[in-house]
Amino acid sequence: MDALSPHDSVRQVLKQYWGFDDFLPLQQEAIASVLGDRDSLIVMPTGGGKSLCYQAPALCRPGVAVVVSPLLALMKDQVDGLVACGVPAASVNSTHSPDEKRRVAQQVQAGELRLLYMSPERLVQPRTLDFLAAQKISYFAIDEAHCISAWGHDFRPEYRALRSLRARFPNVAVHAYTATATEQVRHDIVSQLGLQNAEVLVGDFHRPNLQYHVALRGRGLAQVCHVIDRYRGQSGIIYCITRAAVDRTAALLNNLGYSALPYHAGLSDDERIRNQDAFLTEHTDTIVATIAFGMGIDKSNVRYVIHHGMPKSLENYQQESGRAGRDGVEAECWLLHGGSDLMTWKRILDDTSADARNAALAALDKMNAYASSTTCRHKALVEHFGQSWNRGPCGACDVCLGNLDLVENALVIGQKILSCVLRVQERFGADYVALVLIGSEDERIRAAGHNQLSTWGLLRDFRRQDVRQWIEQLVGQAFLCKEGEYHTLRVTDSGRQLLRGERTPTLLQPAKKDRPRPSAAFLDSWDAVDRELFDSLRELRRKIADERGVPAYIIFSDATLRDLARRRPSTPNSMLNVRGIGQKKLADVGATFLAHIANHCRTTGQPTNLEPPPPPHPP
Ligand code: ADP
Ligand code: ZN
Repeated sequence: MDALSPHDSVRQVLKQYWGFDDFLPLQQEAIASVLGDRDSLIVMPTGGGKSLCYQAPALCRPGVAVVVSPLLALMKDQVDGLVACGVPAASVNSTHSPDEKRRVAQQVQAGELRLLYMSPERLVQPRTLDFLAAQKISYFAIDEAHCISAWGHDFRPEYRALRSLRARFPNVAVHAYTATATEQVRHDIVSQLGLQNAEVLVGDFHRPNLQYHVALRGRGLAQVCHVIDRYRGQSGIIYCITRAAVDRTAALLNNLGYSALPYHAGLSDDERIRNQDAFLTEHTDTIVATIAFGMGIDKSNVRYVIHHGMPKSLENYQQESGRAGRDGVEAECWLLHGGSDLMTWKRILDDTSADARNAALAALDKMNAYASSTTCRHKALVEHFGQSWNRGPCGACDVCLGNLDLVENALVIGQKILSCVLRVQERFGADYVALVLIGSEDERIRAAGHNQLSTWGLLRDFRRQDVRQWIEQLVGQAFLCKEGEYHTLRVTDSGRQLLRGERTPTLLQPAKKDRPRPSAAFLDSWDAVDRELFDSLRELRRKIADERGVPAYIIFSDATLRDLARRRPSTPNSMLNVRGIGQKKLADVGATFLAHIANHCRTTGQPTNLEPPPPPHPP
């Protein structure tokens, strides 16, 4: 294949191969660095469209682009996706036979491949380096580049060896991509890889198509089922803290008639891979997993991510919940937490060194503050990653949607709690203070004489866990702070203002409403979509995917199916107007889908070839 000239050709490539009309934010700038041969570091949130930044330019230049990726599953997924779009791409990895490897090498030598994927450990083998040095390499792209940094949450020592690339290929640009945004990790990536005069581009971490909710976990799985019921037959992930909880939850869901499979490190390799494949190929709707699941899962049409237990840190939460809605279509993220979660984590952390344990506990504290705060969830997440929030209410979280049940007499309750903290001389933690407030006869309280305090039993009408939560919320709003190894509570300066009635806290009732009002984004994205047609198109997609042994979203994304069910094209040409359909896919499955749509429109009398306004949140 002849390479197109770089200028203006990227747009053409985008339309022809991917069927996209436009770039997502920052993609164009990131691609310009690649075309301009300037080293770069691109930081974009999950779903931001990083892969296209190093895939599309490979088609506009001579030579082969070498992509480094940490996981086999990730490579396979991307290569399958590229081939389905008509892009000549391949990977070499340990699952390939010597013959297969030789064939790929010949393709590279013959200049037939545009993209070559491999693991870092393979790339830095002397044999591989020697082979590549004799080829025309257009550039190196390092995916999941944070793996090179010990500061990141997913350090992989084998990434360290990649620093040799700079010296060995002084004239080939190196581009790094990651979704992990802390400043420290960014610096580390640039220096470890020896990037020179690197262009550093950091994307917007706001994910407007995700709806964030936080609630206290109730008994049983009713809250979980409500979410799944809204997305019957579609894909979602449920994260639990422990393997036992994963097994229990998956079994319960199956008993209730849902289609769910477990995933955790305690399962055999076989079973784990089988369950993951069943999820990717949409033979099971829901995967219930520990945090062992997810890295390298590129599945774009995950419609909900439920944390049935507190995540390990805000970084983890952002990454895990961010696996929802990568296709830009709306999705829900639920954090269902309870008082026992912290204990569970402490037990898990028992085996770690003191330093690691303290760091982990500090991260859990931040997570807890997020869960008990009453500020916009999107704002909190974006700000945690060092970006400022210049928008108003997001319209896509429990806080901004007004789904929180606010306590009416929050000032009085806040004052009662803070006086109690003072009465016990700021020497006790939240659990203890809550017990005193509800008037517990606990042995420790009697021994300390705290059942004699005027604040003993001041909140006896409430449940212990509610009071406990309010304390966290007061900490989250900085009226109280936790100090020392035992997290003893202290009243802050703002707390003193609260005691004088000069400031009022916001306190939450445990949410009783279980069906949130959907945000505008949620309703709009279904605008003009023929739901029945959409459902039958999903069936068709699954059938084709099964026949080919690829994940369903490789055929078409959910966003594409929606657009098909909205526009209902009747000719190949009008099909090209649908987002996500390029020449190759048109040639490949266009006729099958056109026939299906024609048939549907005939039987239902629906008009075809509509030109609806573009949906408000382009993916
Ligand atoms: P990341 O690797 O940053 O998490 P991906 O590369 O997987 O993100 O892309 C996320 C989703 O966005 C995919 O479904 C992809 O097809 C889609 N996408 C990427 N670029 C565009 C674009 N220019 N227009 C429309 N959709 C896009
Ligand atoms: Zn909000």
